[in-house]
Amino acid sequence: MADRLSPDARSKLMSKVRGKNTGPEIRLRSALHHCGFRFRLHDRSLPGTPDIVMRARRTVVLVHGCFWHGHTGCRRAKLPETRAAFWAEKIKRNTERDHAVCKALKMQGFRVVVFWQCELRKDEEVQALIRVRLGDAKHAEEVATG
Ligand SMILES: [Zn+2]
Repeated sequence: MADRLSPDARSKLMSKVRGKNTGPEIRLRSALHHCGFRFRLHDRSLPGTPDIVMRARRTVVLVHGCFWHGHTGCRRAKLPETRAAFWAEKIKRNTERDHAVCKALKMQGFRVVVFWQCELRKDEEVQALIRVRLGDAKHAEEVATG
């Protein structure tokens, strides 16, 4: 399929998608709350400024946009045909950085749990995924800060 957007329009669209507080992340956050998890957002004191941090659980939750983080096999991660090499290189650098951040977090004793944007479409599904990946929130720990 040809890319309907000009490189410039594509860039604009993608940077919108990349921004913080996007739909999927909001959906995940409210589902986490609903399940009883408490967390901090965008903690600059940790490698990569993770989206969601549960310090008491030593757990970091990352929300990855499928395109930017190169979700393997995902149709949303399909590269535009226009300037394909440019995008491929960009995504490669992003995934390398993701890998380094993940490693650094693990070195600090954090468990890293990734949710992909394409998994965060329906609230019910999100809650089910949270139970699978994070288990039960038996103990509330931190109050969410913004
Ligand atoms: Zn995906």
